[in-house]
Amino acid sequence: MKNIGIDLGTANTRIFLRGKGIVLREPSAVAVSDETEEVLAVGLDAQRMAGKTPDGVSVCRPIKSGVIAQFDAAVAMVDIFMQKSAGALGSGHPRVMVCVPYSINDVERRAVEEVVLEAGAKSVALIESSLASAIGAGLRVTHPKGSMIVDIGGGTTEIAVMSIGAIVAARSVRAAGDTLDEAISDYIRRKYNVMISDNTAEYVKRSIGSIESKIAGAAPAPKEMEIRGRNIITGLPVAIRLTGADMAEAMAEPVAQIVDGIRATLENIPPELAADLIEEGIVLSGAGALLGGLPALISKVTHLKVSIAKNPTDCSVLGLGRLLEYTGDVDRIIRFRTK
Ligand code: ADP
Ligand code: MG
Repeated sequence: MKNIGIDLGTANTRIFLRGKGIVLREPSAVAVSDETEEVLAVGLDAQRMAGKTPDGVSVCRPIKSGVIAQFDAAVAMVDIFMQKSAGALGSGHPRVMVCVPYSINDVERRAVEEVVLEAGAKSVALIESSLASAIGAGLRVTHPKGSMIVDIGGGTTEIAVMSIGAIVAARSVRAAGDTLDEAISDYIRRKYNVMISDNTAEYVKRSIGSIESKIAGAAPAPKEMEIRGRNIITGLPVAIRLTGADMAEAMAEPVAQIVDGIRATLENIPPELAADLIEEGIVLSGAGALLGGLPALISKVTHLKVSIAKNPTDCSVLGLGRLLEYTGDVDRIIRFRTK
C-alpha cells in the first residue's frame, strides 16, 4: 500500500511519497464557476487565474490558517493533487499523514480527516505541524533536550519548543505571510492612495521585503522597486516607487506580533529547557522565514542564536516523509483513522 504525507498549507500544498520524495508542490488554490460550482482548475492553474478571472469565476483558497475553510473545494483540490501524484502513486487508495496546526480544535481536526478521506484516502493520521517541521529541519526532537522551531507560513506562525519527541510549549500566531501582504496593501493605500492587488503585495514583499531598518545599527536595505496599482481618487492606473524602508514600516506591526509570540512561548518553558536553547538556538522554517532581516530581529529580541532551516519551505512535508520512511508500520506509533 502507498503511504503519502500531505502538508496542506494555507499558501501551498506539498506531497511526499514514501520511497520517492516530494512529488508535488502547488499553491492551495481552487478556481470555481460561480453558477455551476464546478471546479475549473486547482493549484498553479487556479492561482494564475486569481485577480484576472472573467465574470462568473472565483478563485478561492480553501485552507485558512491551516484549517478547512471551504470543504468541497478542499476535497476537490486534494483529490486532484493525489491523482496528479498518481503517476508515482500507482493505483489504490493511499494511507495519508497530514500535518495540522497546534491550535486546531476537534471539529477542525475532524474536517481535515474528512477532506482527505473524501478525496480518496484509505486512512488518515494527523501530525502536529511543528513536530513535522522540526523533524524535517533535522532537529533531534527525540533527545531529552529542548529545541525550538518557528514555522512562518501563509496563514499562521507555528511556534513550538520540543523535548523527547513531544511539544512542551507552543502557540499559533495568526500573523504570517498573508498578514504581511495585507499590511503592505494597507500601508500603500494610506500613504499613496493607491490600491494594489494581493499578488502585487506578495510580489513586492518577496522582492524587497525586509525589516532590516528595524534593527538598531543596521542600515536600511537600499532596495527599491516600482509597482503598479490604481489611484483610489482618480481611479486611474499609476506606478509608484517603494523602498526597503517603506516595507519595514508597513510590516512592523505583524512582525512585532510574531516576535511577541516567540517571546511569550519562551517565558512559558521550564528553566532546564530554556538553558538548552542557549546552545541549540531557534530554527526558522516556512517560506515566511525568508523575509529579510527576520533572523537578526528575533535574535536581537531573544538573545538566542537564530538560523533558517535547510529547505525551509519543505520542512513540514519532509518531516512527514521521514516519519513515513522511519518504519514500515508507522501505525504502531501513529493512529490512522478510516472512513
Ligand atoms: P504554508 O505552509 O502556510 O502554505 P509556506 O511555508 O509555503 O506557507 O509560506 C508561504 C508564505 O511565505 C507566503 O505568505 C509567501 O508570500 C511567503 N514567502 C515566500 N517567499 C518569501 C520571501 N522570499 N520572503 C518573504 N516571504 C516569502
Ligand atoms: Mg507550512
